[in-house]
Amino acid sequence: MKLPFRKSVSVLWMSSVVIILGLVAYTLFSLYTPAMPNKMQNPDMQESDDDLRDRLTPEQFYVTQQKGTEAPFTGEYWNHHETGMYRCVVCGAELFTSQSKFDSGCGWPSFYEAANDTNVDTQTDTSHGMVRDEITCSKCGSHLGHVFPDGPKPTGLRYCVNSASLKFEPKDESK
Ligand code: FE
Repeated sequence: MKLPFRKSVSVLWMSSVVIILGLVAYTLFSLYTPAMPNKMQNPDMQESDDDLRDRLTPEQFYVTQQKGTEAPFTGEYWNHHETGMYRCVVCGAELFTSQSKFDSGCGWPSFYEAANDTNVDTQTDTSHGMVRDEITCSKCGSHLGHVFPDGPKPTGLRYCVNSASLKFEPKDESK
């Protein structure tokens, strides 16, 4: 059945408006990263945002406090192979060891396990239209990245971490 010209124009017009509104809504939803009150996750963490901004770089603040993501292949540690400990850039907690680091090819530092059972928390993240497992520092609540079930043995996990949330501490060979 062929619609009269005027009617098909108005159907087209309406469909475009619906699609555009949908795209705008999706974009706004995706861009909306709630400034997560990490201190609410961990009331022990008393440092104010102003203090954190003073001692972190803008990217470190964006990643750890606003759940941001650094661009792949740009961070300090994606291609870093020294022996030592990767600590939380905010609170210094031990998060990942160089022993569990592997080259995932994804452009972010990747580890198959956390340094211990207590310092890395996992929670479901449904932002950006995806369901992922977010990882955070359990001591201070800082956002670290996500963990995926496509890692190597022995755990089969890939902790995909932003360099901006880490501070590497080389192993002291004299000890
Ligand atoms: Fe921390």
